[in-house]
Parts: sequence; C-alpha cells; structure tokens
Amino acid sequence: MRVQISPDVIKNASCLLGAFDDLPRVSLTHSPTPLELMPNLSKKMQGAQLWVKRDDCTGLGMGGNKVRQLEFYFGQASAIKADTILITGALQSNFARLTAASACKTGLQCHIQIEERVPNSSPLYRHSGNILLSRLYGAILHSFPTGEDEEGADRQLEEIATKLKAEGKIPYVIHLSHGHPPWGALGYVAAASELLEQIDRDKCVIDEVVVASGSGATHAGLLFGLRALGCSIPVRGICVRRQKHLQRPRIFSHCQGIAKILDIENPVSDEDIDLNDDVLAPGYGKINEAVLEAINLTAQNEGIVLDPVYTGRTMAGFLNCARQSEKTDNLLFFHTGGQPAVFAYEDDLTPILSRNIK
Ligand SMILES: *Cc1c(COP(=O)(O)O)cnc(C)c1O
Repeated sequence: MRVQISPDVIKNASCLLGAFDDLPRVSLTHSPTPLELMPNLSKKMQGAQLWVKRDDCTGLGMGGNKVRQLEFYFGQASAIKADTILITGALQSNFARLTAASACKTGLQCHIQIEERVPNSSPLYRHSGNILLSRLYGAILHSFPTGEDEEGADRQLEEIATKLKAEGKIPYVIHLSHGHPPWGALGYVAAASELLEQIDRDKCVIDEVVVASGSGATHAGLLFGLRALGCSIPVRGICVRRQKHLQRPRIFSHCQGIAKILDIENPVSDEDIDLNDDVLAPGYGKINEAVLEAINLTAQNEGIVLDPVYTGRTMAGFLNCARQSEKTDNLLFFHTGGQPAVFAYEDDLTPILSRNIK
C-alpha cells in the first residue's frame, strides 16, 4: 500500500499539536532529527529502500527516545514546582541516564533506583555505559533487589519520595508500573507529526514504520499520532521486553491514556496494533545471533551504532521485514538510541569483532 501525505494531514498536524498547547512541557530535544536513507544496507539486503529516523540524535546527554518523552515528565514536575525527580530502572537504563541529564539541564536533583534486572555481573555492565553517565550527571543512587516487580519498584520509589518530602523537598516520581498517565508517549505523538512533515517536505514515500516496543510509550505515541493525523502507514512494534500477547493490551491502554490526556477520541483500534516477537528469545536484554548480525551489518554498512538491548533487536526484526519486502517498498527504522550500552555490553559484542577485519 502506498501512502501519500495530503495537505490535510499537515493541517491536522497543527490542529493536533494545538491540543498540546495547554500541556506543561520542557524543551529538551534537538529536533527535527534527521530522516535518512541507508543506501548501503538497502543494497546489501537486495530488497526495499531502507530509511532511518535518527532519534539517537535527540541531543541531550548522548540522546535517544527518552529525551522526547522526558519533555512531558519534566513538564509535570515543573507544574508542581518539583526540585527533585525520581526514577527506577536497570543498571543500564537509558531512561534513568537521560532523566539524570535532564535534571542537570533543568536544575533538579535526580534519584535513581537501580533494579537488578539483567543477571549479568560483569564489571563493565556494573560500571560503564549508562551507569557511568548517570553518575557523571550527579544522580543519587538507590538499590532494589529484583528486576521483575514493577509495582514493588514503584512502591519503594514512593517511600524514598516520602522521606524526601519530610526533609522539605518537592519530589516528582516517574513511575515504571502500568496504569499511570502515559506522559512520555506524548513525545512520540509529536514525533509522528514531525515525521509526516519531513516525508512531505522531502517528497519521499514510507510504506511501513518499524519501532522498538518496550514500555510501549514510543510505539503507542507514534501509532496514535499518525492515526490522529489521518495517516495510515502501518507501524510494526518489535517486542524487546515481553511477548506480543502481553504487550498488545499495554499498547492499547497507552493509546486510551493518550486520548484521555489530549481529550480526543482514540483513533487506534486493537487490529491496528501490529506486534512481532520473533527475535525476542531468549529474553529482555539477552543477546541472540540475529541481534549480533543486525548490530554488525548496520555498523559495517552505515556507520550507525545500535545497542544490544533495544535497537539491535529492533533492527533484527526490521531486517526480517526487509527480507519479506518488495523492491519497490520503502521501510523506515526508528532508531531510538541506547548507544552508551555498547560499552557496558562489550563482552557480548566481542564475538562479532573478530568477524569484522576487512
Ligand atoms: C526505552 C528504550 C526503548 C523502548 O521505548 P519504550 O517507549 O519504552 O517502548 C527503545 N530503545 C531505547 C534505546 C530505549 O532506551
């Protein structure tokens, strides 16, 4: 299916973004991020034209998708005049790293609760990459013993916030568990509009968008934004965190949450949620051969760095789409960042380095 961007879509964009005007938001993102063709990778795959939306280049604190999401969380924080922000995540959390960077930029103090999510105790994993940067940004670290208890992690985070309040601070908590308003997804509703303007300006055609589906904020925001703007480009979410039958209701409820915040009708139907978990095994944060191949091919052909947890896995799913596509198709990979993790996962990447001598 060929999707052309009509002038109506652009008009809808200003309308939809008008609904954003009353929402508290803090400007953090370098945008628009580049929309580029990956010519060498396209040739290598001998099929479709492969494009990339460079959301690894959102600027702040080494970049990534969370910068767009944090504009709305920091908006909420500033609305209550918070002086402290709290977040929970894995040792190599990009979200925690970028929350710490955003806190530096906006003058807040940042507390990070570290969950033991990936059973990997290599010294690099524990000290390099994202955690190194979070410490550089001056975040205060706490520890939480398990990695699969979202409610429990939030409860302990709330306890820390209560203590801070008693000390006279004004804390704002970024929750991990499901059921809180999807503020972060709004960043990707806005990104959908940005993408459509670029497609229109550059006169290019995109037949399908492929994006990581983790918490689902990015996936749901993009899908919602495109549909609310009247654009029917299919959006495929590559499961990086949980299987598709568990992810689907999360995406749907994020979409309902966005509709509620913006006070418009939810334009996303259940059938419109396209998820693929073919490359998820053996599980979150664990490398497999398809992920290694995807990281390798993208670096070698385009000089673009992918991370082992999110974007490497998403590229593996994207390359599967490319293999099944027609030569005339145009597929877009949404690069969501994550590059600092490469240094923490050096041990996992070592096997491919020896394949790379030219
Ligand atoms: C968090 C993250 C994702 C997943 O985004 P969600 O909005 O949580 O689904 C993808 N890529 C990178 C690099 C991330 O840090």
